[in-house]
Amino acid sequence: MRSCFKRTFPTLSGATVTLLLLLLVDYRRREGGGVKVKGGRFSVAASGQDADPSSLPGAIQPGLKAGGTSLSGRVPWQRKVELREVFIAVKTTHRFHKSRLELLLQTWISRAWKQTYIFTDGDDEGLKIQIGHRVINTNCSSTHSHQALSCKMAAEFDVFVASRLRWFCHVDDDNYLNVRALLSLLSSFPPMQDIYVGKPSLDHPIEASEKLAKNKTKSVFFWFATGGAGFCINRGLALKMVPWASNGHFMDTAARIRLPDDCTIGYIIEAVLGVKLTRNPLFHSHLENLQLLSVPQIRSQVTLSYGTFENKRNIIDMKGAFSVDEDPSRFKSIHCLLYPETPWCP
Ligand code: UDP
Ligand code: MN
Repeated sequence: MRSCFKRTFPTLSGATVTLLLLLLVDYRRREGGGVKVKGGRFSVAASGQDADPSSLPGAIQPGLKAGGTSLSGRVPWQRKVELREVFIAVKTTHRFHKSRLELLLQTWISRAWKQTYIFTDGDDEGLKIQIGHRVINTNCSSTHSHQALSCKMAAEFDVFVASRLRWFCHVDDDNYLNVRALLSLLSSFPPMQDIYVGKPSLDHPIEASEKLAKNKTKSVFFWFATGGAGFCINRGLALKMVPWASNGHFMDTAARIRLPDDCTIGYIIEAVLGVKLTRNPLFHSHLENLQLLSVPQIRSQVTLSYGTFENKRNIIDMKGAFSVDEDPSRFKSIHCLLYPETPWCP
């Protein structure tokens, strides 16, 4: 291989060749992998939405050495994911705007304002004034049925696909999203890889009975990241999901396996596309014992939650800035731990 390069590029030093290859890799990455070589020139197979890479942050790390690592010690393909590349979808319902969403707006959403889209099911003028076009009334039914939840997930997915952003992250309205921890997690993935990251709530793959033609069914087994803990998908993978997840197809796919929205996402990714869920312990729903997390651990978790678990109140156990009476979800205290400079933190 080495001698082959010498013959092909007799006038270029090894270091220059490495640098050129790195730039090519970075260029391919920024194009979502769609670069074809035609007659010695690059023709970009841009997928419509992704056509303008120059509008996105993406340059190779400053201080890149030709030897394979950067001066900062990062591997060359590693690039810090910036908040403005991430699409954060929050699923809510009209009756939780006051009781749940307001707390999120006051805490973590204030740190990811422009990137956060609220998917709800009823008009709320106050919210509209606050959030503008990023509050989306899906007109989905405001129930907890599979269909209603899938209807919202479908809307989240469609708005993400149209957004040109690089990462899709979903959370429920009872999740605290630690924006710094999220960016650091997303930055750890190789840019060319299909990523579906989150945490399963089951300790085994779920079994779905997939409806086939002529009233036949087939068992399929797959892992899924529980929606209540949040999960993320990179754009490359999301675009592969489009035939099953976009333009009304999400509801059909969900009906095919008769399971909720988060299971449907897992089904499309694992069972249809053959991409594996990357399990990550930093995501937390209230379906696990949140008391097990220690205060030092809380800082590095990507999502936290509150609610009930086995019919008992389930919240993070921390002293924090506010008492449990003042801050029953513990989200204000978590926020003050992460951002002590916040004006309303004591
Ligand atoms: N949700 C909804 N419609 C409903 C009930 C809930 O869209 O009628 C949303 C809610 O806003 C939250 C998610 O579904 O984002 C999960 O709801 P919840 O936390 O109440 O229930 P869980 O599934 O966690 O027990
Ligand atoms: Mn919940």
